[in-house]
Amino acid sequence: MTQKIVIIGGDAAGMSAASKAKRVRPELDVIVFEKGPHISYAACGIPYYVSGVVEDWKNLVIFTPEQALQKRNIKVHIFHEVLSIDSEKRQLTVRKIETNEIFTESYDKCIIAVGARPRVPQIPGMDLSGVFMLRSIQDGIDIKTFIEVNQPKSVVVVGGGYIGLEMVEAFRRLNLDVTVIEQLDRVLVSVDAEIATIVEEELHKNDVKIYLRSTITGIKRDKDGSLALDVAGGPGKINADMVLVSIGVQANTELAKTAGVRLGKRGGIRINEKMETTVNNIYAAGDCAEYKHIVSGRNTYIPLAPAANKGGRIAGENAAGGNAVFPGILGTSITKIFDLEVARTGLSYRDLSETVYSKVKQVSITEKNRARYYPDAQELTIRLIAEQRTNRLLGAQIIGGLGTGKKIDLFALAIMKNMTLDDLQNLDLAYAPPFSPVYDPILLAANVGLKS
Ligand code: FAD
Repeated sequence: MTQKIVIIGGDAAGMSAASKAKRVRPELDVIVFEKGPHISYAACGIPYYVSGVVEDWKNLVIFTPEQALQKRNIKVHIFHEVLSIDSEKRQLTVRKIETNEIFTESYDKCIIAVGARPRVPQIPGMDLSGVFMLRSIQDGIDIKTFIEVNQPKSVVVVGGGYIGLEMVEAFRRLNLDVTVIEQLDRVLVSVDAEIATIVEEELHKNDVKIYLRSTITGIKRDKDGSLALDVAGGPGKINADMVLVSIGVQANTELAKTAGVRLGKRGGIRINEKMETTVNNIYAAGDCAEYKHIVSGRNTYIPLAPAANKGGRIAGENAAGGNAVFPGILGTSITKIFDLEVARTGLSYRDLSETVYSKVKQVSITEKNRARYYPDAQELTIRLIAEQRTNRLLGAQIIGGLGTGKKIDLFALAIMKNMTLDDLQNLDLAYAPPFSPVYDPILLAANVGLKS
C-alpha cells in the first residue's frame, strides 16, 4: 500500500519537507494541512512590502496549492487546522475552518512544521485598533491598509529586535515619526553591545527616537483619538497613531504536546539530528523546533528561514525512508537597517557564559571595504571571538555599509570547518580596488586576533 506522509504547516519547513519527500519517493502520498490562506510565503519580505519596496504582497507567495499539486503532486489543504495528533492510532484530528467540519486523517509518518507565533505582552490595550503584531502576510496587509486608510503620523515600535528594526526602516520610508521602546539596555540583542551601539547611532541619524530599559505596561485610547502607551522606565507616557509590538516569538508546541512529544529547555520541540521527535513516526522542523548549535553542541532556539527550509528538507527525506543528518545551526543572520548591514554567526559574547568556552579573546577592527583611494568605499567593523588557547574561531559579527554584510558567510564556513585565526589569516582571498583593500578586512581581523 502507498505510504502516506502528512505534514502540518505549509510554509518554509512544511513545504520543503513535502517537496523533498516527493523527490525521494514520488509514489508517496504527501498531504499538507495549512490553517491559513497561503503556503510557501516569504514572511521575510513583509517589511519590504509595507515600505513599498515590494509592490504587491502576491510577489511574496512562492507557490500556490494548485501549483504544488500540478508541479509536485503534493495535496495541500489550506484553511485546515490540525487540532490534535493521536500517535497510538497514527491519526490526526482536523478542522476544516470554512465549514467547521471535523474529520480524521491517518498517517504513516507525520511532520510537524507549525512554526512560531509572536509573543504577546500581557497588558491592557493589545486589542485596540491601530495596535499590530507581525507574523503573517495578512498582518503585513493589515498594517499597510491601516497606514493607507488612516494616514498615521507616528508609530511606536515595541521591541528592538531585527523584525522591529526592519519595520522601523519601513515606517521611516513612509515618513512616519518613529519611536522604539526596548526593555533591554540595547537594541538587537543577537549582536554584542559594541555593534548594537553603531546600530543605535544609525537609528538616531535617521531621526528614530529610542528608549532603552523601558517596558510598556498598557495602551489606551486617548481623548484626541491617538493611542497612549504607559511606559515604565522610559518617558512615562507616549502617544502615537499606531503601535507595532514585536517582542520576539515562541514556538507553537501545543499540537506536539497532544502527541506526547517532548519539548526542549528552550521551549521548542525536541528533535535529534534526523529531525525525529521523541515519538515514533513523528518529525518536526522549522520555527517550532529546537536545533543543535554547532559550536556549543547544545540545543538552541534561533528561529530563522534557512534553518526552517533545510530542516524541513531533512525531515521530508527521512520521513520518506532516507537517512539524512542535519549538522545543526550557527544562527547566521543578516539584516539591513537604513544604510547599514548587520550580520552575525556562531556565538556572541552573550552566548558564551552558557558554554564551555570560558577563555576567549575578542577583537574588533574597523576598515574600508574597498581600496582607500577607490570612490564610495564603505566602512565596516568586524568583531571576532576565538578560543584563547587554540585560536579556533567561535563567532563573528559584521556591521558596515551596504554590500559588506554578506562577508559573514565566509566566517560561517570557517566556524563550520573548525578553522582557526591562522587558517583565516592565510586564506587566498580575491583583491581588486573596487572590491577590497589588498588585505581584505577578514584577513586583517584574523591577524589582529592572532596578536591579541
Ligand atoms: P512558519 O513560517 O511560521 O509556518 C508555519 C505554518 O504552520 C504557518 O503557515 C501556520 O499557519 C501553520 N500552522 C500552524 N499551526 C497549524 C495547525 N495546527 N494546523 C495547520 N497549520 C498550522 N528569517 C530569516 O532567516 N531572515 C529574515 O530576513 C527573516 N525576516 C523575517 C521577517 C518577518 C516579518 C518575519 C515574521 C519572519 C522573518 N524571518 C526571517 C523568520 C522566518 O520567516 C521563519 O524562520 C520561517 O518562516 C519559519 O518557517 P516555518 O515553516 O518553520 O514556520
